[in-house]
Amino acid sequence: MRLVILGGGESGIGTAILGKKKGYDVFVSDFGKIKENYKEILVINGIVWEEEKHTEDLILNADVVMKSPGIPDKSPIVKKLIAKGIPVISEIEFAAPFTDATIIGITGSNGKTTTTMLTHHLLKSAGLNVGLGGNIGKSFAWQIADNKYDSYVLELSSFQLDGIINFRPHIAIITNISPDHLDRYDYKYENYIDSKFRITMNQTEEDYLIYDADDEAIAEWFKTHTTKAKLIPFSLTKTFSEGAYIKNNKMEISINQEEFTMDTEHIALEGKHNMKNAMAATSVAKLMQIRKATIRESLSNFQGVEHRLEKVLKIQNVQYINDSKATNVNATFFALDSMNTPTVWIVGGVDKGNDYNELMSLVREKVKAIICLGVDNKKIIDVFGNVVDMMIEVDNMNDAVRMAQRLSEKGDTVLLSPACASFDLFENYEDRGNQFKQAVKNL
Ligand code: ADP
Repeated sequence: MRLVILGGGESGIGTAILGKKKGYDVFVSDFGKIKENYKEILVINGIVWEEEKHTEDLILNADVVMKSPGIPDKSPIVKKLIAKGIPVISEIEFAAPFTDATIIGITGSNGKTTTTMLTHHLLKSAGLNVGLGGNIGKSFAWQIADNKYDSYVLELSSFQLDGIINFRPHIAIITNISPDHLDRYDYKYENYIDSKFRITMNQTEEDYLIYDADDEAIAEWFKTHTTKAKLIPFSLTKTFSEGAYIKNNKMEISINQEEFTMDTEHIALEGKHNMKNAMAATSVAKLMQIRKATIRESLSNFQGVEHRLEKVLKIQNVQYINDSKATNVNATFFALDSMNTPTVWIVGGVDKGNDYNELMSLVREKVKAIICLGVDNKKIIDVFGNVVDMMIEVDNMNDAVRMAQRLSEKGDTVLLSPACASFDLFENYEDRGNQFKQAVKNL
């Protein structure tokens, strides 16, 4: 069997190693450059590869093709493969048949990483032999090749789900759905929603789907579709006999006739969105029969994830918060919502078609000053110019943080939550968050 891998990144190299181990004739082809350390690994493992080209004669003879999630279906080589009827799948589809481990798959527009890391933390603290993969860390296929774990918590993007045929997680989570990446879905929101729901398409009556019951797109989908999986909804406003909810500042979870209750003030993560993430992760822990005391302890000591509502420093009684990962309006909505003090808000970057009006009432209520940090800030200025007292434009992080310090006073919060991608002024969201933290430390 000839396995061709398009894309020599983390998922490509992992798949190559697993494929080789399982006896495939493996070929890796990358249209860009492959990192040196990955090339070395390919050579050591006797895997043939090419870079900066796709040689059709070596690709179109594949029995199966694993495509990295970054390569769109529209690329010429993928179109040719599809026209020839050669299956083009994702890493998780290729790798999953080679393990008996319990798979927990987590998707959604926002909150995937936080929920994945928290779920992993809950299971690992309970002593389970559990791996972490998907979009995070070491590739899932690679870990299976090393045969390490009894269960895996996987963060899954819609692109990975587009490349599945039989992939069936025992427990699936959809954290929420809001418009994102529509350029890859013919600008049709329903295509993107359908893509997220592929996570449940192969689930059976023995499996579980945990989902946000407050989410409009999810509710709409359920009106016209079904899944065989057992449903576990979570909500901030409704209550369920089977599911998870918040009532009187308590998180209540009821699954398979078992109850779990915890005061939300003892949960280390903060903000309503994080209560949702905590409900989703705790539901998994209950399904995996983790002891209540262990769940409680893990929820109270989870430190959160860098660049997601990350508390940086308090200087002259002003709290600085790094939420650089907020690259869309929905993420920023929850960041502003969780502010309890007057806020100086640093926003802007590359906007993917944002509707800032969704933030209007929160901005009126909480924001005293806006610092626009982007190459083109016109839209933000048009929407909020008359809403806040102070608004200024800057073009680098040091100026943004210095201005924020000047505009804030004791008891305020300075929040970087850009609602935009970062590549006009920064390399990526990590670079933006790190520059923010450094600038705050330099104050
Ligand atoms: P993802 O991996 O889906 O991008 P992250 O956990 O990295 O999600 O969080 C991305 C951004 O969204 C951060 O700004 C974070 O504070 C915010 N966020 C986290 N969970 C949620 C949620 N459940 N709903 C909305 N926003 C969220």
